[in-house]
Amino acid sequence: MGKDLEYATLAVQTGLPENPYDALGLPIYPVAAYQFGSLEEGADRFANATGYTYSRLQNPTVAALEERLAALEGALGAVALSAGNAATFAALLALVKTGDAIVASPGLFGGTVGLLNNVFSLMGVEVRYAAPEADAVRAVLDERVRVIFTESLANPALTLPDLEGLAALAEERGVALVVDNTFGSLGYLLRPLEHGAHVVVHSLTKWASGHGSVLGGAVLSRETELWQRYPQFVNPTPQGFVPLERFGARCYLERVRNLGLQLGGMVLSPFNAYLIHQGLETLALRAERASRTAHRLAEWLREHPKVAWVRYPGLEDHPDHARARKYLKHFGTILTFGVKGGMEAASRLLRAIRLLRQAPNVGDARTLILHPWTTTHGRLPEAARRAAGVAPEMLRISVGLEDPADLEAALGEALEAV
Ligand SMILES: *Cc1c(COP(=O)(O)O)cnc(C)c1O
Repeated sequence: MGKDLEYATLAVQTGLPENPYDALGLPIYPVAAYQFGSLEEGADRFANATGYTYSRLQNPTVAALEERLAALEGALGAVALSAGNAATFAALLALVKTGDAIVASPGLFGGTVGLLNNVFSLMGVEVRYAAPEADAVRAVLDERVRVIFTESLANPALTLPDLEGLAALAEERGVALVVDNTFGSLGYLLRPLEHGAHVVVHSLTKWASGHGSVLGGAVLSRETELWQRYPQFVNPTPQGFVPLERFGARCYLERVRNLGLQLGGMVLSPFNAYLIHQGLETLALRAERASRTAHRLAEWLREHPKVAWVRYPGLEDHPDHARARKYLKHFGTILTFGVKGGMEAASRLLRAIRLLRQAPNVGDARTLILHPWTTTHGRLPEAARRAAGVAPEMLRISVGLEDPADLEAALGEALEAV
């Protein structure tokens, strides 16, 4: 659908396939296999991917979701997978081989760090950590590096990378810039592909689905000449074709589909695809409303006598406030704050809090609160926790859709109990 349409329109008007009953909405196709009318038809579908064969490769419900995701991120196409971690895994697997290296930002999502350090290392892929700034990355680049990986908004530090600087460097050196844009709310807050990233990955578990009810992930990419620089796209496959010649810029996504789904089996169920597809229809409304509430709570908390500090990209004292203004449509739905009195005070607050639920998720319709020091970052050495922007007195809030006055009242009562 037309590139000229706005996000909220694309969110409800794209990814609606024709179907035999003219059902208005997305039908769920819970099937494993598809039937052929003749030997020739079966042969053709297998050889040329001219139709559906088996749901490990493609499913119409999942395909509709992929179409909608691509429209919302302004991408050439999308591949949906079973979880955000599956998406990161497949996105990187399609770009590296033994002996290559990946440059990654410090303080990435814990599941991503585990994947890099414990899985890619098994395959002989080296991981180098460098701050997501052009100079820092340039200092560790050499011809072995095939990927620069960063996140659009770090969690829980809420810092932003120098996206355009990294994109220019990646272009100059012929290296893929891959951005985990989960915190960019599926292109609503930020579209890294428009700033020069080559690939975007998502956990659809968060803002995209929006109800905290399913897991999912996606890999998206844009039109680019970059894939000429990768042997896996310009050399013939064992089946005897050159991926770049056959698929053009889509060769990267075809490789993600092949490695992640056809061979890796990290498949998204059509039921989950349906729920995420529904969730996307309200994402713009949810993200806007929750961002406004988060901004209001951040300003209110900053004035509270029992609060030591507040971190929110929309506050002028945030270290990346200027970058947030440049890149984000709204300042996002996550904020962190420190309670005066350290971890003991944070513990009292969590014992007293009502309404805000303690859980390790973000982008849920309900407002969630978490103590990262003892949960998501609890297994890291203390210095690593501090380097990731985590502190003992710190609480993270993922703002949901409740009335802001109720959230303020609940936080106010809990702070009184500290
Ligand atoms: C949650 C999350 C992931 C992993 O997604 P799952 O769906 O839980 O596998 C990856 N990156 C970020 C930034 C996340 O928040």
